[in-house]
Amino acid sequence: MPMYEFRCRECGARFEELRGLNEPDAGVECPKCGGGRVERLLSSFATSATSAASSPSGSSSGGSCGPRGFS
Ligand SMILES: [Zn+2]
Repeated sequence: MPMYEFRCRECGARFEELRGLNEPDAGVECPKCGGGRVERLLSSFATSATSAASSPSGSSSGGSCGPRGFS
């Protein structure tokens, strides 16, 4: 289940909420003020974190394997 970032239009607080793809934004309440007027933000940080976590392991394994094969 993907995690989305929301921002409260009442107090401006930002928080994360687990939401299903078919679940509407309705029902999401601000944990700070309890307001229901929230907007979903683009969760670009989630995709960047996933790619950053997967790329170092892949590049390190490939880098260690390459030089050994040549020498
Ligand atoms: Zn709020």
